[in-house]
Formats: sequence, C-alpha cells, structure tokens
Amino acid sequence: MRGSYDVIVCGGGPAGVGAAPAAAREGARTLLIEKYGMLGGVWTAGLLNPFFECVGRGWLVDELMRKLIEAGAFASWRKERYGDFVFDVESMRRVLEDLMRAADVELLYYTLVADAIVDDNRIRGVVIESKAGREAILARTVIDCTGDGDVFARAGCAYELGRASNGMVQPMTLMFEITGLPEGWEQKSSQELYDQMIAVIEQHRLGYRLPYPRCNYAPWVFNTPVSGTAVVQCTHAKADPLDPASLTRSTIDCRRQAYETVDIFRRIPGLEKVRLTHSATQIGVREARRLKGRYYLTPGT
Ligand SMILES: Cc1cc2nc3c(=O)[nH]c(=O)nc-3n(C[C@H](O)[C@H](O)[C@H](O)COP(=O)(O)OP(=O)(O)OC[C@H]3O[C@@H](n4cnc5c(N)ncnc54)[C@H](O)[C@@H]3O)c2cc1C
Repeated sequence: MRGSYDVIVCGGGPAGVGAAPAAAREGARTLLIEKYGMLGGVWTAGLLNPFFECVGRGWLVDELMRKLIEAGAFASWRKERYGDFVFDVESMRRVLEDLMRAADVELLYYTLVADAIVDDNRIRGVVIESKAGREAILARTVIDCTGDGDVFARAGCAYELGRASNGMVQPMTLMFEITGLPEGWEQKSSQELYDQMIAVIEQHRLGYRLPYPRCNYAPWVFNTPVSGTAVVQCTHAKADPLDPASLTRSTIDCRRQAYETVDIFRRIPGLEKVRLTHSATQIGVREARRLKGRYYLTPGT
C-alpha cells in the first residue's frame, strides 16, 4: 500500500493536466500518475505540437498559452487560419510541470496504472506497476485520463471501440521532427508539397508509396518556435490500440515511412539539408476505448 489521496488522476495527457490542477485547486490532495517521464501525452510524447482554435478557450488553455508565450515557446502556424498556433514540445513539458507544482499536484512518473480496485460497485483506488513492484493506492475519486480507458475497462465498465459498422478505429500516426528547413518554407501548402513528393518519387523511381492516396491529411508540416525546425504529420498505420504487437508493427512501419518522407524531401530543391532529428516516443493513437457513460459529449451544432 503506497498511500491514499482525495483524487488520483491516471495519465498526464491534455485531459490529465486539466483534471489534476482543477481538483487540486479545489483543495483535493491530488496525485497524477503517468507512465512516461513527462506530461503532455500526445502533445509531447506524441510530438503533436499544433494548438488549433485555442484563442479564448478558458482557464487552462489561456494559462498554458500565456506561459508558453513567456517562455518564447509559442508561434503562429499558417496565417490563413485564425487561432492556430504551434508550441515547442520541450518547453511544453516544463511548463506543464510548473503548472502542476503551482497547483500542488503530486506527480508519479514511470508508473503504469495496471488495475482498478473496486469494492461495492465503486472504484476505491488503483494498482500500479513500476520499478518498485506492484503497489496499491487508494482514493475517494479516480479519474481515468489514460486516453485508452485502461482504468474504466479494468474496473469492469462497459465501453465501445471503433466504428459501429466494422469496429475499426481511426488510423495512427507517428509524428517526427526535422531540421534544416529554409526560412518560410513551412508556409508551403500541403497540396504543393504533396505534388512535389509524387514528382520526386516518379522522377527518381524510388518505389515508395505515400501513405495517403490524396493530400487531405498529409503531409502537414508544423513549424516550431525554433527556426528551421518543424514537426511532420505524414505517416499512417492501421492498428489495434489495445494490442502491443499490432502497435509495435505499426510503429516500425511508420518509422520507415518517416525516413522515406525525409529522403523524398531532401530531393526537393531547397530542402537538401533537411534531417530527421527524432520520431515521437509514442505512436499517435487517435481513438481507443470509449466509456459507455451516462452522458455523451457530441459535437455542437
Ligand atoms: C496525429 C494526431 C492528430 C490529431 N489531431 C487532432 C486535431 O486536429 N484536433 C483534436 O482535437 N484532436 C486531435 N487529435 C487527438 C488528440 O491528440 C487527443 O484527443 C488528445 O491527445 C487526448 O488527450 P488525452 O489526455 O485523453 O490522451 P493522451 O494524449 O493519449 O494522454 C494519455 C496519457 O496517459 C498516459 N497513460 C496511458 N495509459 C496509462 C496507464 N495505464 N498508466 C499510466 N499512464 C498512462 C499516457 O502516457 C499519456 O501521457 C490528434 C491525435 C493524433 C495522434
């Protein structure tokens, strides 16, 4: 038994870093448990650095934007859309830790929430796995922010997965970062870049197939506040978010796609100096389990 809290937040992605300070600011003794050594989830471990339509959204988003601006870690993306910004991923990790410290949220990194402790039809705590072994932590309230619904699934709650018609989830994307871009290059439209990539593949007979048959979702190149550097959304894989073997295959396949993308970029005039600096720690999972809740949030009309 490791201890007990008023609130345990499981997972430190965008949902968890909102839930934990919200609870702590109400006076709840709050623990946030995260399997990686960073906060931010898809934002940071997933290297997904755009902040779309974020202006005027409210307290945490406003606070994050203010702190990222103060750190020189926030920049605008393409000029044509209002309210689209990009952040520096490394700074985001630190800013989120500062926010948690200021709100008195206790952090526990490198810890996997492995099970739920359920008694009398209520969740009473969680079982964690770490280098310290298997431990239990109790709480009055447990909030599942794992993105995958790990905790509610272990607690025995009903959930849905994938489309009703065939059970398929949205494809996954391994984001990657590149350097060596010339000034202003990120303003190039996805369509222009896509057409250039197709031309390069044909001209050099590379035998690559772009992961997207049209340019709808790729390539998206998001500049970062660090000059010459961008984050690229171009890889694509169908995988089962609950099967580690499937996630492994997809990650390896997406990494191959990332290297091929950079190989193509380097054959486009002006992009010869582009280098892949790193790919995301975690393949970007767009959807996994959905709790069958009492209420559903649906897109506004
Ligand atoms: C390529 C891509 C493009 C996207 N584009 C958009 C977009 O344009 N607009 C939009 O609104 N959304 C978009 N999304 C979706 C958006 O990123 C997610 O909805 C959002 O990240 C969900 O936040 P979350 O905190 O619920 O989950 P996550 O970001 O997945 O965070 C979950 C956190 O929990 C941790 N965790 C998971 N399991 C455990 C466990 N068992 N124990 C401990 N820790 C655990 C993880 O390490 C992670 O830090 C996109 C996603 C991807 C991948």
